[in-house]
Amino acid sequence: MDLWFTENHSKNVKFSLRVDKHLRSAQSEYQRIDVFESKEFGRILTLDGLMMVTEKDEYIYHEMITHVPMAVNPDISNVLVIGAGDGGTVRELTRYEHIKNIDMVEIDEMVVEICKEYMPSLSSELSDPRVHIHYQDGLRFVRGVENEYDLIIVDSTDPFGVGEGLFTREFYGNCYKALKEDGILVNQHESTFYTAYANSMKRAHSRIKSTFPIALVYQAHIPTYPSGHWLFGFASKKYDPRADLKADWWNSLGLKTKYYNTILHTGSFAIPNNVRDCLRESGEKR
Ligand code: SAM
Repeated sequence: MDLWFTENHSKNVKFSLRVDKHLRSAQSEYQRIDVFESKEFGRILTLDGLMMVTEKDEYIYHEMITHVPMAVNPDISNVLVIGAGDGGTVRELTRYEHIKNIDMVEIDEMVVEICKEYMPSLSSELSDPRVHIHYQDGLRFVRGVENEYDLIIVDSTDPFGVGEGLFTREFYGNCYKALKEDGILVNQHESTFYTAYANSMKRAHSRIKSTFPIALVYQAHIPTYPSGHWLFGFASKKYDPRADLKADWWNSLGLKTKYYNTILHTGSFAIPNNVRDCLRESGEKR
């Protein structure tokens, strides 16, 4: 008997993956957590039936959400990661020896525990001594933090349910305050191909743009995310991610990556007209 994991990418579009085994299913206080084993994508983590990460393509997302900001400011030392319960973002950050502290604020401890057990290739570095995990709401955590972090990465679920608060003006305003005077905010910024995701992206972008002097969008292709074309937000108090890219410095680190490189870094900000149109509709002049 064939087993398939299916996710609705829109009301009229389904995305299905053949799975060999349903390894774990749990209901936490916040969401339903499932892990599957699949031939094509290896192990898969879903939350409330939505694709989060797969072993086969997670490197694209985790390299792009970390190395883009890290290649702009070589002095990033104190990092706040919000969400990111699977550990992939933290794994990439711990590859930088000059990072001194990583606070990871994940609301759901059960996600971390399940990923430690079933997705060790992602969660392996959560035990790094520089990593401090805080099991609480990221929206609450940033309230009252001032001038503390060089980089904030918001690796959250989509803007509904438990993730909703991480897409609000209040949250972005508190991130602005929590960042140092040359701080950078990077967030998973949804997509524009399907209407529901495009509306989320427009809302998030107009709020970030009204909070940060520099607010741009970059892209990657992620096969298992809706439409395969996914966006990231890059907001900063000081740096332009293209003009201020330290390519020679980053390349001198000798970090081996499967997707990110410093040429693709610049290219990823060359976004298609349909995305530019969406940003314009979000009150964004580009
Ligand atoms: N890369 C995935 C994506 O783009 O959808 C997200 C990865 S990670 C699994 C998302 C994490 O965000 C989840 O573990 C979820 O529990 C966490 N999360 C959602 N809302 C949160 C909040 N308000 N505060 C902290 N963590 C939150």
